[in-house]
Amino acid sequence: MKHFFRTVVTALTAAAVLCCGCADTGERKADAAQDAAGPWQSVDTAMGTVVQMTVYAERREAAEAFSGQAMELLAGLEREELSWRLDTSEVFLANGSAGSGEGFLLSGELSALLSDCLELWERSEGAFDVTLGAVTRLWDIDRWAAGEASEDFRPPSEELLAQALERCGSGRLRLVEEGAGLRLYMPEGMGLDLGAVGKGLAMEKLLALLADGPEVTGAVISLGGSILTYGSKPEGGPWRVGIVDPFDTSDSIGILTLEGQWCISTSGDYQRYVEADGVRYHHILDPETGAPAAGDVRGVTVLMKDGLLCDGLSTACYILGPEKGMDLAGEYGAEALFVMADGTVVMSEGMERYFREQ
Ligand code: ADP
Ligand code: MG
Repeated sequence: MKHFFRTVVTALTAAAVLCCGCADTGERKADAAQDAAGPWQSVDTAMGTVVQMTVYAERREAAEAFSGQAMELLAGLEREELSWRLDTSEVFLANGSAGSGEGFLLSGELSALLSDCLELWERSEGAFDVTLGAVTRLWDIDRWAAGEASEDFRPPSEELLAQALERCGSGRLRLVEEGAGLRLYMPEGMGLDLGAVGKGLAMEKLLALLADGPEVTGAVISLGGSILTYGSKPEGGPWRVGIVDPFDTSDSIGILTLEGQWCISTSGDYQRYVEADGVRYHHILDPETGAPAAGDVRGVTVLMKDGLLCDGLSTACYILGPEKGMDLAGEYGAEALFVMADGTVVMSEGMERYFREQ
């Protein structure tokens, strides 16, 4: 079932998945910098992460137009649905309704997303939990992940963590069908944090946009730790996506060779973290303790067709570790690859078909 091999590892530090064939990071590529004969390439930011796009279309204007629409879509997703900070978003309003007898009527899209998240919570035996808002706020993850105020960061006290944990737990949500959506009832103080599936929903929406625009024939879009591939290159040949080496994030441990449409999500302790008094704290929390998950996994990459589940599974598998995580991924028909703290790489049998060691 599983395959083990040892990879030579070097130094230690931070990042995500390498996107082979994407534009260099930096600023948005100016028109003049675009290679007229090649695909449209852009680098920009949305949803708190760097978005890199490589888009193939017969007409370059069509590729450029797609890239603009995609950036608008991502900004809209954050503003109208996922942000817990912007008072224009559904999550913000839903969180504000916690403790009220009326609850909050979710849109069809967020109802479906929450249903998927609750199923993943159950199947992961609670390791994946989108009701950790009270705890993620306490850790101030968003602030230090965005590079703000990290010098004076102090981890929360045990007492505060215990209090916040009392306000978490998917088992304490109540959902009631109403029209095309679900009405959500959360206890006082509970808050949704959809950080673990936000990029997954974004990948789903981008795939729908791609399917809608017949002029785009191929694309690779990278949103931090999540990447999607779509269609093909005019010159043929597969997509090649590198998996970052958690021990040297300027390098990759290997390459996935993929044809057509795929989603690839990586969760790791090296992507977003903060240090205080020589201790490093990362952003994937164990719902049992409210503290950063303390297993022997450095990073997990999940490969599957569905974007939302791909993103959710990579977070869940990070917490569960290779034994349980591999089984969970298998239940969803996903492939998984774990980079362990001792440098060992463990992957599902199916992943071996796509992965080649660097
Ligand atoms: P990233 O968002 O950097 O790509 P992940 O997809 O792994 O990384 O999601 C991590 C985010 O998910 C955290 O920043 C936090 O908002 C949220 N989160 C942390 N721990 C959990 C958990 N156990 N279950 C669900 N969501 C979590
Ligand atoms: Mg995730």
